[in-house]
Amino acid sequence: MYNTIKKYISAFSVSGNESPLAKIICDDIAPYCDSVEIDPIGNVIAFKKGADSTKRLMIASHMDEIGFMVTYIEESGLIRVTNVGGINAVASSYGSVVFANGTKGIIVLDMGAKKEDISVKSMVVDIGAKNKAQAEKKVKIGDVCALEQRITRLMNSRIAAKAFDDRLACAITFEAAKLIEEPAYDTYYVFTIQEEVGCRGSKPAAFGIAPTYGIALDVTHTGDMVGGPKMTVKLGEGAAIKIKDSSVICSRSVINRMTELSEKHGIKHQYEVLTAGGTDTSSMQTACAGAFTGCISIPTRYIHTPVETVDMADVTACVNLLAAIIKEGF
Ligand SMILES: [Zn+2]
Repeated sequence: MYNTIKKYISAFSVSGNESPLAKIICDDIAPYCDSVEIDPIGNVIAFKKGADSTKRLMIASHMDEIGFMVTYIEESGLIRVTNVGGINAVASSYGSVVFANGTKGIIVLDMGAKKEDISVKSMVVDIGAKNKAQAEKKVKIGDVCALEQRITRLMNSRIAAKAFDDRLACAITFEAAKLIEEPAYDTYYVFTIQEEVGCRGSKPAAFGIAPTYGIALDVTHTGDMVGGPKMTVKLGEGAAIKIKDSSVICSRSVINRMTELSEKHGIKHQYEVLTAGGTDTSSMQTACAGAFTGCISIPTRYIHTPVETVDMADVTACVNLLAAIIKEGF
């Protein structure tokens, strides 16, 4: 599991540029499914026939991560960028970045920017170029870069890295798919694109599949950070069963079934009400004639920073809960 996570967070996959990770996931999941395809907009859709083909289950995990897009190259060779997704300028500054072609850089703040004005507008990428012409040999307008992968092992099976949002969910989905030989229903493992910029991949995928049941997997905040939101989700307390986020109110029957399966299998679980932030869950709920939907959330500290932190015990709980849903159905 750890190696899968490491492999997925190392792959390049800024929103709109998910194909390197999509290719890896296709290769990984193909032996465990009946078919795998990449749809016209780039979602990976892996299908596994189930015992009851009158119902369809869609699982959604997003492949993309937040990043930066080149807007302008200064005469000096320094590169101006705009955000792709919800960037926290303070959290992302003074780190290393990498472009799809392997060009490396560092991302810094405009030294003249006042503290209160710090935003993506005051961020600059320095690839070491001496001037614009030199920079343009490596980087073009519209290219995107992401923070460089690094992973830190902490105490108590806790790990920190960038892009656990939502590569962890991709890894969890893959692990669950491996465990299940025959799903309860026809099951579509969907690895979506462009969630971070407005759940753009999951909408057409859900429309095409028209799921009876839809389960998303994504990270959620925890209330146990210093100055964190007032919420009960805590690191190490198990898989978080979503009740609500700003895009969805989950189906009560799905919440109840997740609770029942957690209790049956002794899976540690907790409940999540997220007051800000949406997920692919809503795309499935409102697709076609509508679907019963829920979301398994992975408790994560410091989301959208280079040190998103999770407890591997929670990650395992999420795998087990997802596997139970796929195998036993609703
Ligand atoms: Zn996410």
